[in-house]
Amino acid sequence: MASLTEENYLKLIYHLSGPGYEEVSTNALAEQTQTKAASVTDMLRKLAEKNLIHYKKYQGVRLTEEGQQEALKVIRRHRLWEVFMVEKLGFRWDEVHPIAEELEHIASEELINRLDAFLDFPESDPHGDPIPTASGRMPSAEYEKLAEVPVHQEVIMMGVSEHTAPFLQFLSKSGLIPGSLVQVLEVNEFDRSMTIQVNEAHPSFVSYEVARNILVQTKG
Ligand SMILES: [Zn+2]
Repeated sequence: MASLTEENYLKLIYHLSGPGYEEVSTNALAEQTQTKAASVTDMLRKLAEKNLIHYKKYQGVRLTEEGQQEALKVIRRHRLWEVFMVEKLGFRWDEVHPIAEELEHIASEELINRLDAFLDFPESDPHGDPIPTASGRMPSAEYEKLAEVPVHQEVIMMGVSEHTAPFLQFLSKSGLIPGSLVQVLEVNEFDRSMTIQVNEAHPSFVSYEVARNILVQTKG
């Protein structure tokens, strides 16, 4: 079984390698974990010994099938706990991530499977991220960025690619939560900022930086 830190590494490698399962460099890991390359190397050696990653010195790393399953388990727990906190405990979506970072390390599969059933098998977390299944499959969710939506197009907000609390609070204030109906009214060519209408509310203004972190799907 992997330790807490090992689980965080597996999760990080999973996220950094992206949908194409590309190799992740030791430097990228050192940067993300804000630790020295030497301690990253130590950890990678441990993970390789447990057959959770493929690792050769001076080369990138890749999760083994087993490592990928471990990473998906942690992500599954994390996202189910987030659903639980928002739906059953009344937390806001900008509050749950740091707590889920702790809860995700409770390993009991029985607990997580019962939690999953209790929540009626949700497919995505409060941020719109897909929840891996009990059998270790990550549902694919390919969403467009709001920043790429043409004028007059109506879309449904599906999630976010930026998870920090200030960003989520800003969105909540503008009524931008998953499920919102969004129409692009105008795009400013100079800086690609947008005027949008959210549900039936007054038009509001979003910067390009905001729009590129909102994930949407065409309505229909
Ligand atoms: Zn989270």
